[in-house]
Amino acid sequence: MSTVSDVLVVGASAAGLATAEALRRKGFTGGLTLLGDEAEPPYDRPPLSKQVLSGAWEPERARLRDRDALDALGATFALGDPAVSLDLTTRGVRTASGAVLRADAVVVATGVRPRVLPDQAGLGGVHVLRTLADAVALRSDLRNAGRLVVVGDGVLGAEVAATARGLGVDVTLAGPQPAPLAAQLGPLAAGLLADLHAEHGVRLRLNAAVVGLVGRDGRVTGVRLADGDVLPADVVVVALGAVPNTEWLLDSGLVIDNGVVCDAGCRAAAGVYAVGDVARWHHERLGASLRLENRTNATEQAGVVADNVLGADRAYLPVPYFWTDQFDAKLQVFGVLPADAEVSVEDGDVTARRFVAVYRRAGEPVGVLGWNMPKQARQLRQRALGQAAVPR
Ligand SMILES: Cc1cc2nc3c(=O)[nH]c(=O)nc-3n(C[C@H](O)[C@H](O)[C@H](O)COP(=O)(O)OP(=O)(O)OC[C@H]3O[C@@H](n4cnc5c(N)ncnc54)[C@H](O)[C@@H]3O)c2cc1C
Repeated sequence: MSTVSDVLVVGASAAGLATAEALRRKGFTGGLTLLGDEAEPPYDRPPLSKQVLSGAWEPERARLRDRDALDALGATFALGDPAVSLDLTTRGVRTASGAVLRADAVVVATGVRPRVLPDQAGLGGVHVLRTLADAVALRSDLRNAGRLVVVGDGVLGAEVAATARGLGVDVTLAGPQPAPLAAQLGPLAAGLLADLHAEHGVRLRLNAAVVGLVGRDGRVTGVRLADGDVLPADVVVVALGAVPNTEWLLDSGLVIDNGVVCDAGCRAAAGVYAVGDVARWHHERLGASLRLENRTNATEQAGVVADNVLGADRAYLPVPYFWTDQFDAKLQVFGVLPADAEVSVEDGDVTARRFVAVYRRAGEPVGVLGWNMPKQARQLRQRALGQAAVPR
């Protein structure tokens, strides 16, 4: 039985909102506050590198809920006021404006922010992409840009390269891997993705370490590689991964280690939970500590956190999942696709770029990849991976 009469969620985005909604769905009628540092009502991030950046959507369309749905939640939204500290004994959160909010349960949902290059501050034409404002600013800069260099060959960098190319921009994608997303997709699918980018005219500078930026009169003019080459650029997007937003918790006594460290039920301390990109929790079935930065995780983890806030003792045991859209390719990845896995194509055709595949290690399925076959990918995931969490 829960004795919780009020809940404070810090971070008013995908995971924070999903937690608040799950609490109400599960019958919680107590006080609910969402504290967020962004002034905007909650919006979704996946469209920022796709539909919003391409201009297919007006920025407002990325909003997660309309005004009526937010009102119906019966929550207080305290927006534009970052949390600056947490007192574990009183569960009091102090904000930048000087307010102190206390609750029986505090849910940390402060996400991550982009990692930056040391020399990028103050140089015009250099962008990161995390917020709606970032997407609008990048889109505007791309309108006048001849040449874009994307620094980083992970999911975000590859998506930005694809979207910008679709806008007719001259794009170079630079990164240290042998193919974009090699770490997430393994050699087969990452190779296909490299081909796809090249066919669409993206210049790939693979196996290349970026060492810094070059500028003139306060504006970027190029990206310097370790081999001395300078890639000319009017606009640069730095997509080098992200760091958890945990500085405000450093004096709290919570264990912070590349995220807020939690137990199997996403509990960081008595009455304190973490959810979404910022949460590092103990995945009991894997026997490992995990932090996932993907959209589905934000929603699924929120359901478990809401249950546990309300007195349950559920372990969070997901099969990790992410998707990415690049050019005409929709990729879905369930579990993990290690470089040394045996890959068996179960349906479709790799050369037609429409297929689903199971990845196995020592004969055991560890991952499923879908390439432009979303329905079949979901079915194969059920068949091959079941409800079990996959080993790493
Ligand atoms: C451009 C882009 C494209 C993406 N595409 C995909 C995709 O195709 N597929 C996929 O699976 N995932 C994708 N993702 C990842 C997905 O969007 C994230 O996993 C998801 O947003 C995580 O939600 P979150 O609420 O945990 O964190 P966030 O969305 O980062 O929200 C955290 C919130 O907390 C706020 N905050 C931070 N510090 C404080 C503080 N001290 N006080 C108060 N508030 C604070 C932040 O400003 C933010 O509003 C993408 C992400 C980006 C940026």
